[in-house]
Amino acid sequence: MLASTCSRRAALRLFSTSRGAAARTPVVGGNWKCNAGDGTTKRDVEALVAGLNACAPAAGSVEVFCAAPMLYLDQVNQTLAAPYEACAQNLWKETKGAYTGEVSAEMLTDAGITWTLVGHSERRDLFGETDELLQAKIAHAQEVGMTVVACCGEHKEDREAGTTMDVLVPQLEAIAAGTSDWSRLVIAYEPVWAIGTGLTATPQQAQDTHADIRAWLAENVSQDVADAVRIQYGGSANADNAADLGAMPDIDGFLVGGAALKADGFSTIFNAIAKK
Ligand code: PEP
Repeated sequence: MLASTCSRRAALRLFSTSRGAAARTPVVGGNWKCNAGDGTTKRDVEALVAGLNACAPAAGSVEVFCAAPMLYLDQVNQTLAAPYEACAQNLWKETKGAYTGEVSAEMLTDAGITWTLVGHSERRDLFGETDELLQAKIAHAQEVGMTVVACCGEHKEDREAGTTMDVLVPQLEAIAAGTSDWSRLVIAYEPVWAIGTGLTATPQQAQDTHADIRAWLAENVSQDVADAVRIQYGGSANADNAADLGAMPDIDGFLVGGAALKADGFSTIFNAIAKK
């Protein structure tokens, strides 16, 4: 495991809070990435949806969304049972126009998709998405009424250098600047070194960073927002570690990649943090 360090922690903790923990409904997302369930066909998607529908959570106990590839979103949205939500993995910041390869928030909501991820580290690192662009995407998605799951995270060298919050703060500033309705904003804290690597932050490492993010929100947005906003942990969350991570007071759910591609593993994760 990597060492837990944060240069600003002592100062930020003055504002730290997990006061709203009991009131926050857990939220768990499956990020399917460029996978159709565990295959590459519509039939694989059907199989995963059928598996998920067989183990849907009790409404109100946990919010669960599935971020399927764009091509399958309509299919997933039409076939996934309540209370699951279909979620886009990405969207464009304009309504329509000459933006080859892009899909807008208006098109998504017209198809009934009201959730979207923004700023996943793969969008940032592989596709060069900047905080400025992500801020515009968040702002536009919220204008159209979507709920945004805004991702942030540090790389391994940042964690090892003790600069995790220094790296997260500009990301959080962009998220805050783009957000007009905090009740439709979820933060996914995803240490990049833990995504798809099998390396997981320890529950204490994750809790410390979640508390730092909440403290930053208290100081820079408001105490009410800090108390209410849900912060997911993402990075090799799985059926074995979800209960320990989910027991931490500032961890309100998970964003799950690989382990979301099988219904039984994913349901174990969301049941581990569902309100009893
Ligand atoms: C992710 O892609 O957001 C993620 C957390 O992936 P994994 O669970 O596979 O690490």
